[in-house]
Amino acid sequence: MTPSEAARRELGGFRGTLIGPDDASYDDARKVYNAMIDKRPALIARCTGPDDVAQAVGFARDYGLPLAVRGGGHNGAGLGTCDGGVVVDLSGLKRIEVDPQGRTVKVGGGCTWGEVDRATGQYGLATPSGIISTTGVGGLTLGGGLGHLTRKHGLSIDNLLEAELVLATGERVRASAQEHPDLFWAIRGGGGNFGVVTSFVFRLHDVGTIIGGPTFWPVEQSAEVLAAYREFLPSAPRELNGFFAYHIVPPAPPFPEELHLREVCGVVWCHLGGEDAAARDMAPLLDSVPEPILHGVHAMPHADLQSAFDGLYPAGEQWYWRADFVKEIPDEAVQVHARFGAGLPTMKSTMHMYPIDGAAHDVDPADTAFSYRDANWGSVFAGVDPDPANVPAIRSWSIDYHEALHPYSSGGAYVNMMMDEGEERVRASYRGNYDRLARIKATYDPGNLFRVNQNIKPQA
Ligand SMILES: Cc1cc2nc3c(=O)[nH]c(=O)nc-3n(C[C@H](O)[C@H](O)[C@H](O)COP(=O)(O)OP(=O)(O)OC[C@H]3O[C@@H](n4cnc5c(N)ncnc54)[C@H](O)[C@@H]3O)c2cc1C
Repeated sequence: MTPSEAARRELGGFRGTLIGPDDASYDDARKVYNAMIDKRPALIARCTGPDDVAQAVGFARDYGLPLAVRGGGHNGAGLGTCDGGVVVDLSGLKRIEVDPQGRTVKVGGGCTWGEVDRATGQYGLATPSGIISTTGVGGLTLGGGLGHLTRKHGLSIDNLLEAELVLATGERVRASAQEHPDLFWAIRGGGGNFGVVTSFVFRLHDVGTIIGGPTFWPVEQSAEVLAAYREFLPSAPRELNGFFAYHIVPPAPPFPEELHLREVCGVVWCHLGGEDAAARDMAPLLDSVPEPILHGVHAMPHADLQSAFDGLYPAGEQWYWRADFVKEIPDEAVQVHARFGAGLPTMKSTMHMYPIDGAAHDVDPADTAFSYRDANWGSVFAGVDPDPANVPAIRSWSIDYHEALHPYSSGGAYVNMMMDEGEERVRASYRGNYDRLARIKATYDPGNLFRVNQNIKPQA
């Protein structure tokens, strides 16, 4: 009997959909965001709620099958799926409850950030998320959560108030500062290692209309712009977030035709004050570098900025990721950036450098599992292309860029932007927090059932 046949027979109370390799929907259901990932699970269990999740987890455990948990399915390394095992697909857990008076939002474990941002945006409220609206709340939050609101309001995990989980035993627990505080500490950065999160509660902030968009300069000026940016950003007010980037301008509106397919460096801004304050706060950078070729900054709802990249990066393309945490950007590193940034291998390949200072530095490295509170940026070198034939080119550009810059990094990387790079890299990314994570893992998942992730090995 195949696992999907066994599941259909045994999971009588399962209310969602059980999909096996013989089902017509299987090929669609097994797809994840990164088309380079082509895994064939034995069973995809599309859950409707925590009871379904507990049943699917129990089935994988009892049959000794690998278990992957899929939130938004965005993970670059494809950690939301697996070969020959059970995928606990949370895409049916979509409930969103905004409490505008209490300034919190409760979010189902399978929501994407776009769904949450639109719901909270109706009240002029938001919680820190990322920069692309189709990313899953689950994976992004459990790894940390870097985005447009980081400098003012911290990482996503800094705004997490509680989470409900299904553990490896099938038991359902709530983790918060009061309940299972060790588990609550671990899930704030420790990824999906400890259980399946079926709901999250986040603190909300006043974030209605923001002033956002890109400023672009010719790529030939990138050393000058980056050198000015590295001095400027850490001293800028927290209301201003701006990540540095290399891009090739997409050949489509809203970009003017004369810039189409031009290689640029730039800063993508998000300011939480009004237009005047934004202009004032950006001025020290803009006044110190040559005139940009585009300053596309204007007022918009926060949720619009969050989805500004969605059209450029649809699901189903090839992605190869490398990443590093960075404290400082010395002159030699600026030169390496200028060299690789001017040689993007494909139109969609990019380098982003997300700020991790401001409010993210208010939290002590030992207060959550996310240890790199002294980093100023999380850099990511993402080779992207729709054509599988270009995988070797995007892969080698990403690896070469990363290896050339790694000596100037802080050692570890943001776990959400790594590929499968091995245990040492995971340890380096948690630094002094790794041993505590391994002990908590031994308490909550001693058999390492949840191992399709940037894995923390249980250690009593
Ligand atoms: C286009 C793109 C843009 C991105 N932008 C940002 C950004 O701006 N900021 C940022 O911080 N990151 C960003 N990321 C990285 C992102 O945080 C990771 O890819 C993250 O893993 C995605 O989460 P997911 O739920 O969509 O992924 P999935 O592939 O579904 O899951 C990823 C991992 O998280 C675990 N997981 C997911 N949901 C749950 C859950 N509910 N309970 C337990 N475990 C769970 C999975 O088991 C898996 O190990 C981006 C990724 C992409 C592809």
